Parts: sequence; structure tokens; C-alpha cells
Amino acid sequence: MIDFSNFKSVISVVKHFNNEDVCKQTLAEVRWGDDVVCPHCGQHHCVKRADGRYRCNHCKHNFSCLTGTIFENTKLPLQKWFIAMYLISSHKKGVSSCQIMRDCEVCQKTAWFILHKIRGLYGQSDAVSLKGKVEMDEMYLGGREANKHESKKTEGTQGRSTKTKTPIFGMVERGGNVVAMKVDNTQGATLMPIVGQFVESGATTYTDEANIYHNLTKNGYEHLFVNHSKREYVRANDIHTNGIEGFWAHFKRVVFSTYHCVSKDYLPRYIDEQVYRWNTRKWNASQRFEDMFNKAAKSFGYADVLSLSSVVDVVAWRDKHNSYYWIAKTA
Ligand SMILES: [Zn+2]
Repeated sequence: MIDFSNFKSVISVVKHFNNEDVCKQTLAEVRWGDDVVCPHCGQHHCVKRADGRYRCNHCKHNFSCLTGTIFENTKLPLQKWFIAMYLISSHKKGVSSCQIMRDCEVCQKTAWFILHKIRGLYGQSDAVSLKGKVEMDEMYLGGREANKHESKKTEGTQGRSTKTKTPIFGMVERGGNVVAMKVDNTQGATLMPIVGQFVESGATTYTDEANIYHNLTKNGYEHLFVNHSKREYVRANDIHTNGIEGFWAHFKRVVFSTYHCVSKDYLPRYIDEQVYRWNTRKWNASQRFEDMFNKAAKSFGYADVLSLSSVVDVVAWRDKHNSYYWIAKTA
């Protein structure tokens, strides 16, 4: 069985995965071990044929170790995929498609697809449960009116308005995991069910003074808050939202420094990627690579990643004078 702790650098990845057979062999090993399972009907103990593919004796389908994974139908050498996966797992701030393009010698569009397919593996689990001390906060991306030309300004968009901004809601368990997602709006009626799903009842919640959090006590949580509008950021040493704000700061840094442009439609994937990075922050590169490899070998979500190829309308946002705004790009 392959020992992922040996992958301490890109060089070790390139050296190990030096031909297509080794790549496929490793993928099959990680995916099935000794018991090859048919991806079509779930039959165990399928047999390997002389040409390297597998045959299911039950449903009579032939398949390969790539069937049903993000690598299915790929025309790229698997080595390039694995190098890209290693780069993504080892760079704390992520890598851009331009970087993948240069490092893996692929065109930028291919690099973009690789990145998005790999990001698809990070999907946050609905089963996460935050407990103990949980901080929550919202962040708004896009559209600071003060920096726009008069003719492009939209009325009444200050503060928590979502007319021109995309809200993201996040919760972090102190010393534990973070859960974050794009939301339609930041009204209590939208956020409370999310809190109910991810935060164990009885937990102590920490927020700012916003009205949207006033129902936390009614919903079975202890609720402590700081008043940011009165420039109060920490009270009694313990009451603050510095944890979740640290996550937002990290998220913005990554997007501005690495990606420059984030499509509004794919924002959830970027959020998932940063949540994954945050939640695995104590792992080293080879542990993260192993985890990613496992997810890639076992994933069956090819159909939903395929839909990504239909991307045409990209909306970008940029940091300029410390502000964020959207730029519409046509196909
Ligand atoms: Zn079968």
C-alpha cells in the first residue's frame, strides 16, 4: 500500500507517479484495496482483464479505475492531475489556474477545469456539528458604493443591505471547525435554521450586536455579544468574535492574493475550499494530499462537475483601495 507520508515535495510526487500505469495502479489501490467493486451495480470481487480494465460478472459492464471519479474521460496524463492536487494541498493560500498552467504545462482553461473539479471534492458535510463555544458572523462581498461612479451607484446599499453584495454566513467552534456558506440574505429567518442545523443546542454563541441574532436565546443557545458599533471588540476577556473574523480575513487574503477573480456562481466552491483549508490547518501537505487523493479516488460526483463546463458569465471582484466590487464579464 502506498505511504503518502513520503510525499514531502512536488519532486517526490513527480518521481513516484512517473508513468500512467503507476498512477492507475495507485488510484485502484486507494479506491478499492484488494476488492474491486463495480461502479455500475456495486458487485464485489470484479476481475481485472488483460488490457488493464475490469469486468463485472454480474452486470457485464467493463470499467476502469477512473470510472465515476473526477478523472473519468480525462485526456490529460494522471501525473499532471496528481501534481496539481499536490500543489493545491500544499499551498496554504491555494493556487490560481495560471500557476497550475505553468507548473503542469497545460493551457489555462484546462488548469481552470482541473481546479474546479478538485474544488468539487471539498464540499462541506451537512453532518458537521459545532459545540461548546461557537462564534458566528456574516461577511459581505462586492459593491462598496463610495468607490463607484455616480451613475453606477445604487440607493440604500449601506451596511447589511444585499442589493449589490453577496452575503456569506460563517460559524466557528473555538479551537475546532468552521462552517461557512453563501446565503440569500442575512435575516434571522434565514440564518436561524442554519444555526439550528450546525450548532448543538445548549452551545454558547458569540456574535456582534446585530438584531438578527436576538433569537438565539429563544432557540436554546446561550447568547453573548459585543457591540461593534460602540467600538467594543472584547468584553470580559472571553466575549468576542475574533475567531470567525480571523477566518474572514484569511478568506479575503486568499481570494485577493491568489485568485483576483471569483465568479459569483462558483463562490460556494471557493468558500468550501477555504473552509477545508481552515479545518485541516494542523495537517501537513502530505496528509492533505492523502485526504484529497482518497476523496478523488472515491468520488462519484462527476455529473455535477460536468455542469461546470457551461460557464460563460463570470463576475469578478477586486480589491482596490480596500474595497470590493463586481465586474461583469461576457462570454
Ligand atoms: Zn456490475
